[in-house]
Amino acid sequence: MSADATFDYVVIGAGAGGAVLGRRLADAGRSVALIEAGPSDEGRAEVADLGRYQEVLRGPLTRRLPITAPEGGNPRTAYPTAQVLGGGTSLNTCVWFRPPASDFLGWRKDAGEGWEADAIGTAFAELERRIGIEQVDALAEPHEALLRAAGEIGYPMVDFSGEHADGVGFYRLSKRKTQRRSASVVFLHAPSHPPETLHIFTDVRATRLFLDGRLVRGVHTDTGTFLARREVILCAGAFGTPKLLMLSGIGPAEHLRSFNIVVRHDLPGVGRHLLDHPACAVNVRAARPVPRLDTWNYAGVLFAHVAEGLEAWPDIEMQLGPEPFEQQTAPVGYPTTPHGLCTYMTVNRARSEGSVRLAAPDPDADVMISPDFFSDAEGYDLKVMVGGVRLARRLFAASALQSWVAEELAPGACCTTDAAIGAFLRSTVTTGYHPAGTCRMGPADSPDAVVGPDLRVAGIGGLRIADASILPSMVSVNIAATCMMIGLRCADFMLKDTTQAA
Ligand SMILES: Cc1cc2nc3c(=O)[nH]c(=O)nc-3n(C[C@H](O)[C@H](O)[C@H](O)COP(=O)(O)OP(=O)(O)OC[C@H]3O[C@@H](n4cnc5c(N)ncnc54)[C@H](O)[C@@H]3O)c2cc1C
Repeated sequence: MSADATFDYVVIGAGAGGAVLGRRLADAGRSVALIEAGPSDEGRAEVADLGRYQEVLRGPLTRRLPITAPEGGNPRTAYPTAQVLGGGTSLNTCVWFRPPASDFLGWRKDAGEGWEADAIGTAFAELERRIGIEQVDALAEPHEALLRAAGEIGYPMVDFSGEHADGVGFYRLSKRKTQRRSASVVFLHAPSHPPETLHIFTDVRATRLFLDGRLVRGVHTDTGTFLARREVILCAGAFGTPKLLMLSGIGPAEHLRSFNIVVRHDLPGVGRHLLDHPACAVNVRAARPVPRLDTWNYAGVLFAHVAEGLEAWPDIEMQLGPEPFEQQTAPVGYPTTPHGLCTYMTVNRARSEGSVRLAAPDPDADVMISPDFFSDAEGYDLKVMVGGVRLARRLFAASALQSWVAEELAPGACCTTDAAIGAFLRSTVTTGYHPAGTCRMGPADSPDAVVGPDLRVAGIGGLRIADASILPSMVSVNIAATCMMIGLRCADFMLKDTTQAA
């Protein structure tokens, strides 16, 4: 098929949001060009097998985007982004949690129509029905010991398939046995019978939007121009989407002018408001060798309140690992061990906001990312994480773990004050792999809103966004499920519009 063809819709990026959206539009009989910068995931065993995700993470399908070194923080973080059909869902660890309904109250209040709890719940239910979610409950010691320790310090076993409060429980993963159920596996490939109206173009990279004044007519790529009779939808992820907007002259005017990019629309919110789940770990040395259960090897998850009274929903997610997490602690001199345990912790509703900017007016150049972890004015994120360290210590001190725990390696037993723990956290904090919010949804009068409630880009015709970049606030759990839900909601908005117009 010629790359210069015309379609009803052109969807850019076949990741969590784009694959779901493209499929839904095509199922409704619309012709869709789904353009993906990376190759297909089909026939790649390392992608299909969840246990081999580290190979994908370190291999050629993953591009590591460096960050701008923060003042006094951890400069070693990089953001891995998958360039392959399925996007992040072909690389990620398949943790599948539905956010609590309370996460979306603010979305509805700020953004408006279309984000009611019922509509969101229906979308999640449909995704779960199609994907099939597995609970990982095969246990060995010390997995059981970690869960017993959580019970001892007041966290009962809970079921994470619905709304839940504080407690510990098993992972829910979007996989079937060893095989991941990515957005591409479920929505783009056989045997799910993708319709002929879905045209998938792999190894095609969008370089700029094709604009006619303030109306988007299509997209320029490195293999030609794709035209859209109706709309173009950006699903290139939290970094790819703002990058394409800025390269196309849509973004903060001053920043664009500094690169001699012709400003089509001054939209200051593009690239602002970068959200993430900051991640830190407490590591202990094990008193004896720790058996490795499988490649997944986490015992379970603990959701807890550690910053009293501030949030109704648990404010920290703590993954309980029968192995140490040393990527960030080893480089700054904390001792390492071949046998250890860890708590890998993320702040659920993190408030710090970073930014993403162009480094050059060039599609080949990486963007400049400043995550600005622990930068929120109230110090909320750091406060929660300090609480997480103290909670981890209670867990490791529980009697169920006494035969396993030899000594704390990071931050170490002598690190006791809030200030000292805070310094440890600042020097080792890294991405929770959930960048979001860089083209946030919001009301028209909001200075940093980029899309409205129907995901249309403000001030530009024929253009929507349906990926992690639209998040107005962080959701409390791992975000792939939410990105897929956004793809489904976007399709519903679009199909409703065209049905009404017909
Ligand atoms: C290592 C890792 C582990 C993770 N683990 C989990 C987990 O267990 N659970 C969870 O919920 N979340 C997890 N995530 C996060 C989750 O996968 C992402 O948040 C989610 O995939 C984001 O969806 P998206 O639609 O915004 O973008 P993506 O899924 O990233 O898709 C964007 C797509 O757009 C393509 N693209 C970008 N630019 C262009 C262009 N110019 N032209 C054409 N195509 C383009 C990309 O190649 C990509 O395929 C993890 C992420 C990482 C990196």
